[in-house]
Amino acid sequence: MEDSRAEEDDEYCRKLRESMIEDQIIARGVRDRRVIEAMKSIPRHLFVPVSPIERAYSDTPLPIGEGQTISQPYMVAWMTELLRLEGDEKVLEVGTGSGYQAAILAKLSREVYTIERVKSLAETARERLDKLGIENVHVVIGDGSAGLPEYAPYDRIIVTAGTPRIPPALVEQLAEGGRLVIPVGSSSLQMLTVLKKKNGKIYKKEEGSCVFVPLVGVQGWKPEEFF
Ligand code: SAM
Repeated sequence: MEDSRAEEDDEYCRKLRESMIEDQIIARGVRDRRVIEAMKSIPRHLFVPVSPIERAYSDTPLPIGEGQTISQPYMVAWMTELLRLEGDEKVLEVGTGSGYQAAILAKLSREVYTIERVKSLAETARERLDKLGIENVHVVIGDGSAGLPEYAPYDRIIVTAGTPRIPPALVEQLAEGGRLVIPVGSSSLQMLTVLKKKNGKIYKKEEGSCVFVPLVGVQGWKPEEFF
């Protein structure tokens, strides 16, 4: 299915992406030109197994299997903008899911490590990224609630699942001058939170509410807490 979809990334899909960006992203206030260009260039329909193809560009999260979702396009744009990427960063994404957010990050930074706890999702994401020739993303299978200490520190960390508290491991693995973007709150509603590390001090800002699937792991939700 994905091969025939690749061929469908023609003029029509480019138009779908342009409408998505105008109507859902720019209309809601995202202004970072680099984020907008990255989202124009990544064929979102190759990351979402839905039909018809237009649904992949709709203003909503969508199922990707294993009870997980790909985030709404606006959420991807908003979180990416909050990272303030300039191009030379090493980024950690927790929650690879479909691999779509990782593909956007790959366009905007030097190197991306993305960690996913569900093996099948991680493997499919890796295949999709390979097919698109994206070489600066490393997909790792594991519990990212404890970060990925092997490759730390990271200039930016983005968590695409909701957590009851900010995992201390992620703060530790954030480089000096770095930014962490993370949804924090209950299992049904979170606050999109940005943490900055400056001169060893931590500064925190709450940007707005959001709803994510839970970050399940040693420093996130324990499975028995919400099942
Ligand atoms: N960024 C993804 C994309 O572009 O498709 C969407 C991520 S989805 C909203 C959240 C993902 O986080 C799910 O795939 C889920 O399995 C994963 N996840 C949850 N807890 C995790 C953990 N502790 N470590 C790594 N991944 C986790």
